[in-house]
Amino acid sequence: MSLMNDVLHFDDNTGVLKCQSGCILENLENLVNDKGYTVPVDLGAKGSCQIGGNISTNAGGLRFVRYGSLHGNVLGLKAVLPSGEVLDCMNTMRKNNTGYDLKHLFIGSEGTLGIVTEAAILCYPRSSETAVAFLGCNSFEDVLSCARVIRQKLTGLLSSLEMLDDPAADTLKDNLKINVPISKHPFYVLVEISGSDSEFNEKKLNECLTLLMEKNHVNDGTIATELSRIKALWSIRERITEALLQEGCGYKYDISLPLTHFYKIVEVMRERLGQKVTRCVAYGHLGDGNLHFNATTRTFDPEVLALIEPFIYEYTSERKGSISAEHGIGYKKTKYLHFNKTPEAINLMKSMKALMDPHGILNPYKVLP
Ligand SMILES: Cc1cc2nc3c(=O)[nH]c(=O)nc-3n(C[C@H](O)[C@H](O)[C@H](O)COP(=O)(O)OP(=O)(O)OC[C@H]3O[C@@H](n4cnc5c(N)ncnc54)[C@H](O)[C@@H]3O)c2cc1C
Repeated sequence: MSLMNDVLHFDDNTGVLKCQSGCILENLENLVNDKGYTVPVDLGAKGSCQIGGNISTNAGGLRFVRYGSLHGNVLGLKAVLPSGEVLDCMNTMRKNNTGYDLKHLFIGSEGTLGIVTEAAILCYPRSSETAVAFLGCNSFEDVLSCARVIRQKLTGLLSSLEMLDDPAADTLKDNLKINVPISKHPFYVLVEISGSDSEFNEKKLNECLTLLMEKNHVNDGTIATELSRIKALWSIRERITEALLQEGCGYKYDISLPLTHFYKIVEVMRERLGQKVTRCVAYGHLGDGNLHFNATTRTFDPEVLALIEPFIYEYTSERKGSISAEHGIGYKKTKYLHFNKTPEAINLMKSMKALMDPHGILNPYKVLP
């Protein structure tokens, strides 16, 4: 049996990688790294997830702020349709403006329209030098000011812009004995920059942090340039999910909101849930407006769930956010799809599903209500 994990071609003039859909993301990263490139998506699951799964879920991850979505980075693909027909939308050109771009039907459609078998991915020149800063802020207003200044002052260098709140940091301390490396603050921001010149990186990062401190948007912070310290700072952000798992039962939400509303939802939920939950914590991809909100209880409590859903989706939809920023609809959220899609859009999606998969054989319970 074929594992469908062959690398078909890598063009080191353009960075375009052609491979089969069963390739493990981390193996692709290692392969293109050796040639001076990096793949545009980086996830906690990189050691096990396959590029076909990444494409079908349109996985976002930690470098989204720099490289954007797979809708932009998948140049072409091949898919097997439910009829057994092979749809060849392979393309390795960055510019190809020839009518309906059918590859997009398979990116983020969670395997409901076809099975992706091959893809061409645009990889980017790898930045050899990385620096990370971990900053403490006294208010969410300061977090927003930080984000604005960082975007302006670190243009072209920024590769990640993440945040966590203090209850998330407490969860790490209580459950995994991981402490933040600076004094206690209500909010923390993690900034990563990558480029080719370490001196230039450090100079730009220091200039930016000095400005943030002068303006009192940041009250404490630390910078890491060595790999071991960079990894230690990243583990604070990356191990929150693991820390939350120790609490018993988790209620997890992956939403995007305009930055003016980004953290308000957490305060609203804290008020709403009160003592019924152990914690309400928030962290996420600040640079992409993507918030991961989590509440925990020792055991499953239907009353807590009923207080969160559908309220959180209504709240998000009313503020023009997304009820699923990067985790898709799956089968659990199909009944909430209408919070983000109009009836006309859902009808068109259903017509497309009926046209491409008339017998409903591909992931029949996913995405569509
Ligand atoms: C919808 C969704 C979005 C996610 N987004 C993120 C994210 O942004 N950041 C992050 O860190 N983690 C994310 N995850 C978690 C994890 O990183 C992803 O599950 C991972 O990218 C999927 O790869 P996989 O190989 O494990 O796929 P699987 O878990 O095996 O499959 C995931 C989905 O894709 C379909 N699928 C898999 N392969 C193919 C294929 N070749 N053709 C067609 N359909 C296929 C499956 O049927 C299933 O519906 C997401 C998970 C889901 C379910």
